[in-house]
Amino acid sequence: MDRHELLIAYGDDPDVLLPRLLAAADLPSWLPRDVRIGLKPNLVVARPSSTGATTDPRLVRALIAWLRALGCRDLVILEGSWLGEATPRAFRECGYEEIAREFDVPLIDLKHDATETCLAHDLHLEVCRQARQIGFLINLPVLKAHCQTRMTCALKNLKGCIPDAEKRRFHTLGLHRPIAVLNTLVRTDLVIVDGIVGDLTFEEGGTPVRMDRLIVGRDPVLVDAYVASLMGFAPGDIPYIDLAAELGVGSNDLAVARLRQINEPAVAPHALTASPAPLPANVIADQACSACLGSLRFALQRLSEEGRSWAPDAEPICLGQGFRGRPRSGFGVGACTAGFAHHLPGCPPLATEIIEFLRHPPTKRW
Ligand code: SF4
Repeated sequence: MDRHELLIAYGDDPDVLLPRLLAAADLPSWLPRDVRIGLKPNLVVARPSSTGATTDPRLVRALIAWLRALGCRDLVILEGSWLGEATPRAFRECGYEEIAREFDVPLIDLKHDATETCLAHDLHLEVCRQARQIGFLINLPVLKAHCQTRMTCALKNLKGCIPDAEKRRFHTLGLHRPIAVLNTLVRTDLVIVDGIVGDLTFEEGGTPVRMDRLIVGRDPVLVDAYVASLMGFAPGDIPYIDLAAELGVGSNDLAVARLRQINEPAVAPHALTASPAPLPANVIADQACSACLGSLRFALQRLSEEGRSWAPDAEPICLGQGFRGRPRSGFGVGACTAGFAHHLPGCPPLATEIIEFLRHPPTKRW
């Protein structure tokens, strides 16, 4: 797998999806076995992954089982939760203590780690020593929105690798530049995005959105650029992604990305009920996959931030496998609605594509 490749698997069972993804990435041929391998989930708060805030422990468990089967012995899980949270509490409440016991993997609370003062790109940063000493870092972020930087995924997840005082200082520095510089000091070797349940609006969860997917890549900048498009952000909307590209962390150019989808999205009965974020009454989902419905939720959220909401008397927005082979009027989102008068292809379409489709409808709908 090279740095331009992004692998995507749809579903919600890491035990099934992860081995397929890691085999497709040919990870056994390039993973070093004789170094310390660090797993960095996002445990910003002590809330379960079903809230959209934290990395699903099933994903971390499946990864550790896979690494152990490959002969990797020196594994650690590292995290420093946000300022208002005790990391041990997050480890416990999020199900990581059980994993640590089962596989005899240390849980490292980076809040209590020694730090190093590092100079990079004219910025002095305090960085946790154990994060710097990892031989191979697997970054396991969640696909979710953020109240200040708009989104958080692989690049911002490394903020858990600095002490609390430095987290505070990052805010005074405007977040974007220090996040980009931090990624030159702590290098991610592999990203596995937990996109099973992310969050629509907030990094601490509360408005969960099922996206039912895992995304694997080697370049955290490219992964974040792709995830930004899944959340409906245009290129340039998230400054730290572009800054990280300028500093040589990776590429923010989605034109170079080679997407490889290892399975097809499937209908999920929980897709409509899993989020408290209401959909307009004239969105009609009939056997919709979470992948499609999640994209639509993110697209409508971005449009609502522009002050647009779909008019109640407008023609419906339809999606789902139940619309296959059913030509009709209205707006059809996704390949299943190919017979619609106004149709957006894609299986699933990106939120950015849905935004463009809905922003310029042939008739006034807002
Ligand atoms: S286009 Fe159809 S099959 Fe594809 S993700 Fe959407 S609902 Fe599922």
